[in-house]
Amino acid sequence: MNAVRSVLDDGLAGVNHNFVTARVEDLVKWARSRSSWCASFGLACCAIEMMGTGAAHYDLARFGMEVFRASPRQADIMIVAGRVSQKMAPVLRQVYDQMMEPKWVISMGVCASSGGMFNNYAIVQGVDQIVPVDVYAPGCPPTPETLIHAIETLHQSIEDGEIMRRRSSSGAGAAIDLSVSPTATVPVVIGQK
Ligand code: SF4
Repeated sequence: MNAVRSVLDDGLAGVNHNFVTARVEDLVKWARSRSSWCASFGLACCAIEMMGTGAAHYDLARFGMEVFRASPRQADIMIVAGRVSQKMAPVLRQVYDQMMEPKWVISMGVCASSGGMFNNYAIVQGVDQIVPVDVYAPGCPPTPETLIHAIETLHQSIEDGEIMRRRSSSGAGAAIDLSVSPTATVPVVIGQK
């Protein structure tokens, strides 16, 4: 009965793992990392690069995420593409709150990450003031290659379970900054540990 209660409270994390269920957990993490869909959340010029990433040349379908969802209920990743105005901040938070767990956030571009050149009262000086950010993609705008790097870094962290551990311990996002990460210049290959 205690085992059932633990699973109801904590999901897979509540399972007292043996050699069979440990493999099941790995399978779930693997499936999650390869079936994450994006919420449509383009806010400014960065969104053009995000759209380009989903188009034929870069082909996000290779990573199982070609479908951008208009409904937050069907989305797993919020890519904040562009500067966030004070007026948009509560809307962004509401969309994030409506996404089902587990969910992740990529901050795309310097404006989303820090306000960028918009150092003024109208723009939020970093979207991490509103939602927990898992990966920061640098650039103005980040190229599709940079966004794909951010996405693959996120996928790897989902597969490792790294993000879920941080989320449960601190409630914060993984906050991986590709511009300072020692792995920033090393291509992330999904499935390699
Ligand atoms: S980072 Fe550059 S491209 Fe992106 S929203 Fe800001 S000004 Fe536009």
